[in-house]
Order: sequence, then structure tokens, then C-alpha cells
Amino acid sequence: MDLGIVNSGFIFDIKKFAIHDGPGIRTTIFFKGCPLTCWWCHNPESQNFEPEKFINPKNEDIGSEIFEIVGKKVSVKDVFKEIEKEIIFYDESGGGVTFSGGEPLSQPEFLLSVLKLCKNYGIHTVLDTSGYATEEILKQIQDYVDLFLYDLKFIDSAKHEKYAGVPNQQILKNLIQLSENGSKIIIRIPIIPGINDDNDELNKMRDFISGLNNIQGIDLLPFHKIGKNKYIKLNLPYKMEDFNEPSDEMMEKIKLKFDTTNVPVKIGG
Ligand code: SF4
Repeated sequence: MDLGIVNSGFIFDIKKFAIHDGPGIRTTIFFKGCPLTCWWCHNPESQNFEPEKFINPKNEDIGSEIFEIVGKKVSVKDVFKEIEKEIIFYDESGGGVTFSGGEPLSQPEFLLSVLKLCKNYGIHTVLDTSGYATEEILKQIQDYVDLFLYDLKFIDSAKHEKYAGVPNQQILKNLIQLSENGSKIIIRIPIIPGINDDNDELNKMRDFISGLNNIQGIDLLPFHKIGKNKYIKLNLPYKMEDFNEPSDEMMEKIKLKFDTTNVPVKIGG
């Protein structure tokens, strides 16, 4: 089925002057909604497809809870207006726009509508994705994306399903398809001690990446607990309490393993 052009979609944030979401200075659009439920997700407010309440701790002065609504419906036009304002910075820095989330591929028509506008204006586009989408959707999106930031969490599908909520066969298949299509890809691997840092899993990921084409880099992203407070605000259980953040030494050791792929490897995004 061909994706249509739509007028609006749901986002939860727009970040200006982002420098960790692709090359140069970027505007990052955070799409609301993700079909995955990764235990370590540091943006849990991105998962629900509907706007929701972020509850702040009781405010003693007014004696009741205060909250903010996270997520809103926005028009394609208004999103593009925000993107367009920064064109001069993209030109000077080799930057552009990054679509993140949440999972942008879960609102494919909204994503395609904004992507097409960006391409009309020659703006560089990055898609930060879990890769969880049908092949049909990805094929209609891929030619409008200059660079993919593609998550790889596990090769083992049972573990992926346990810790991220969905199996990963389609995710791996899509990654192979993009690589064969000639799309530029940076692989992003979250490193979570006790979940995906065992030698067996890391070796499988390294070998899988070695078999792909057009991989521009590998980013190893150390797990951190900075998102914990957001779980409290959303009244959601935080499953990562007993897991440790990886040490610098551990990250360096894992980097050495991925260095053998002959693809540039970086610690951090
Ligand atoms: S894919 Fe990303 S946004 Fe979705 S649940 Fe996992 S970490 Fe969060």
C-alpha cells in the first residue's frame, strides 16, 4: 500500500541545536509512540502513542500534584516551520534534521510528509530508528533518508522479545535490506551489563555487522540511569534499578571487539 501525505502527527519534543543526533548542528523531532518497550528506555514518555500526564511530586505550597502534558498533535506545516528556521546553521555545520522518538516509522505517513518537504529544500535527513516496521513502509521511506541511526540491541530474538517487547527478525531483515540498498547506516548498540554484554551476544552482533555493506560507523552507547526520574513521573515501574552502568574500562574492552569489523567505532552517540 502506498503511503499518503498527511497534515499532522504526534510528537513530544523538538530539540534545536542538537549535536549528538547525526552530523553537524541539527533539529531533532521526537515522534510520540513506540511499539517497543525496552527495559532501559530513557525516554519512557515516548512509548505511548497518546499525549499523557507527567506528574511532578506533590507541591507542598499548593497542596496538590502538578503535572504537565507530554505529547501533542502538530501539523506538518508547523513542524517544517521549526526546521526551516535553522537552515543557515545546517548549511554552515553540515547538519540538518533528525527524526527520533519514540519510533518515527510508526507514523510513516507523517514522517514521509515531513521528509519530502525537507528533501524539496535540500535539507540533510537522519532517521533514528529501532528498525521495527514492515519492509513495505521502510522501502517507501528509505530514499528520503540520508543517514540511518539504526539500533541493534540483540541478535537473539527471544532475548529481544523479553527485554524490548517484540521479536527482532523483521528488524534484522530490514537492516540487511537497507545495507543492500546502499543506504548509509550508523549502527547504535546500547551496552547494558547483565542484559546484552555477554561475549556470545556481542560476538554475534559483531559478526552480523561484519556481513553488512555501507556501515559508516558503530556507536556503543553505555546504559545510564538518567531516565529513572521520568518513570516516577509517569507512575511506571523502573526495571533497571538492580542493573549497573558499564565502567569506562568495560566500554573500552567492548570497543576493541568491534574494532575488528574495520568500521569506525565510537563510545557514546
Ligand atoms: S526503541 Fe527506543 S524509544 Fe522505543 S522503547 Fe526502545 S529505547 Fe525507548
